[in-house]
Amino acid sequence: MAKQELLGENTRENIYHCIKCGLCIAHCPVYKEVLKEEATPRGKVQLSRHLSEGSLELSEEVKEAFFSTCLLCGSCVANCPSGVHGDHLFSGVRWRAAQRYGIDWKKRMMFQLLASKWKMSKSAFFGKWARKVFGGPWIEDKLNAGALNVARVPAFNEQPFSDTVPEVVRPAGKVNARVLYFHGCATNYLYGAIGDAVVDVLKKMGVEVIIPKEQSCCGLPIFMSGERETALTCIRDNLKLFARPDVDAVVVDCATCGAALKNEYAHLLRDLRQLGEAVSDAEIAAAELMAAKIKDVTVFIDEHKEWLPQLKAGGAKLRVTYHDPCHLVKGMKISAQPRNVLKAIPGVEYVELPGANDCCGGGGSFQVEHAEVSRKITKRKTANIEATKAQVLATCCPGCNLTIANHLDPAIRVLHPVQLLREALNG
Ligand code: SF4
Ligand code: SF4
Repeated sequence: MAKQELLGENTRENIYHCIKCGLCIAHCPVYKEVLKEEATPRGKVQLSRHLSEGSLELSEEVKEAFFSTCLLCGSCVANCPSGVHGDHLFSGVRWRAAQRYGIDWKKRMMFQLLASKWKMSKSAFFGKWARKVFGGPWIEDKLNAGALNVARVPAFNEQPFSDTVPEVVRPAGKVNARVLYFHGCATNYLYGAIGDAVVDVLKKMGVEVIIPKEQSCCGLPIFMSGERETALTCIRDNLKLFARPDVDAVVVDCATCGAALKNEYAHLLRDLRQLGEAVSDAEIAAAELMAAKIKDVTVFIDEHKEWLPQLKAGGAKLRVTYHDPCHLVKGMKISAQPRNVLKAIPGVEYVELPGANDCCGGGGSFQVEHAEVSRKITKRKTANIEATKAQVLATCCPGCNLTIANHLDPAIRVLHPVQLLREALNG
């Protein structure tokens, strides 16, 4: 029987592009905290090589290097002169490790919820009820989920965002464009105000917004943890809804979802096909079609700013700074457009954040499972934000919002740029 490859060919080739120069090391937020070679991107690329070539066993210890010393932030990829996609290698090894050692039952249960809108809606409703009945600051203040203080995790939306909007929102006058809106799980269950702002701003720009009700989790948090089978279900569900040639764009309000839909779907489908999964040409073509239409909502607004109604000069000045989410700035190379949106708002006094593109330390479940390292990385970020004396931290990723707001001076509001734009449009 032929030997089963550890990694798909288009992932495995990254191993041979690494020249071991070490330029990625200084950019790795985890290495900066733990200072061990196996925590460096270079170290994990070399481990991947030995695993792939069969000279190293995927032991529990090796597995741990891929889970406990990596946020999958993409900083190493963005700073590698040879174009090595460490993120693809590391998530590929995590998948094989998950197949061999299984995934913690709590994580597996969370992924099953994320992959099912019905189950997730019921769980959010139950979670909201339980928090009201059994919660309260006197209990939650003392509870931590890893690095997160439970009292400062936002409450679930009263209803999922998708239940509060029609499937198609049409502007009052001339239609300038027609877009699909992928709102992701965070907006749907935690940050409904971001969804409201996206729909309101786009409508005021004369954009028809289609919000498919049955959209699924983007799948990125699931496949980054090695649960590719469940992630594949999400991918297939989303391709049926979002791979449409008859729209001008697919707008996304979350950096992580955007990076998944734009960068990862086609790659992952190819990878799985090379490893024997039944993936059709049509599915890969659909993923490529969708990827070409994905736009972060701030990019879409910046490209069409002439459609924005006149913004009235605001009252008091508002000091605002901006944090670059890793999946936006490193994954999608987007940094100017969210700043352009913020700077165009009358009354905003924009101040640049030192280390704006440094990772926030969240990394999804990383902050729950590796609290000490995560907390140290987040503390650097919040200290920089507080030093700017900003009243608002803007960011395009609800995941970064959740992490940073949990540790930040509560007097500083954490908002999506589109929420500030909406406030300006509505006076
Ligand atoms: S991954 Fe890239 S930056 Fe890091 S050692 Fe290899 S070639 Fe150098
Ligand atoms: S993805 Fe981020 S955390 Fe992981 S090795 Fe690369 S730079 Fe370090």
